[in-house]
Amino acid sequence: MTDCIFCKIAAGDIPSDKVYEDDLVYAFRDINPQAPRHILVIPKTHIPSAAHITAENAYLAGACFGAIATIAQAEGLDGGFRVINNCGTDGGQTVGHLHFHILGGKHLGERLL
Ligand code: 5GP
Ligand code: ZN
Repeated sequence: MTDCIFCKIAAGDIPSDKVYEDDLVYAFRDINPQAPRHILVIPKTHIPSAAHITAENAYLAGACFGAIATIAQAEGLDGGFRVINNCGTDGGQTVGHLHFHILGGKHLGERLL
């Protein structure tokens, strides 16, 4: 999708602080970190949101979670971390390309809101 900022980041057309890449997945540090470690994990293929995951493309979400485990280990998040997906307007999604936030590097507490 040509006007998608995360597609452009995954393609290297917009610079990012890359932490992980494989054939299916790209991960980079959030530009506005909400925790000492704040990483965005995206499929290289454009999927608009978690509401657009289907039986056909679910392997891409699975690949993201495989990458999340690898990244967490590489980042030293041995004590744990949080994975967040914001979906759609009410879910607070601001970029229309499926992404999973990894938040960690401190004790986050039990409450989400
Ligand atoms: P959302 O609110 O859609 O779940 O999360 C979008 C995230 O993307 C936000 O945390 C925001 O800081 C991050 N973000 C938006 N534009 C850019 C960018 O150009 N580069 C990076 N590294 N992060 C971005
Ligand atoms: Zn995209």
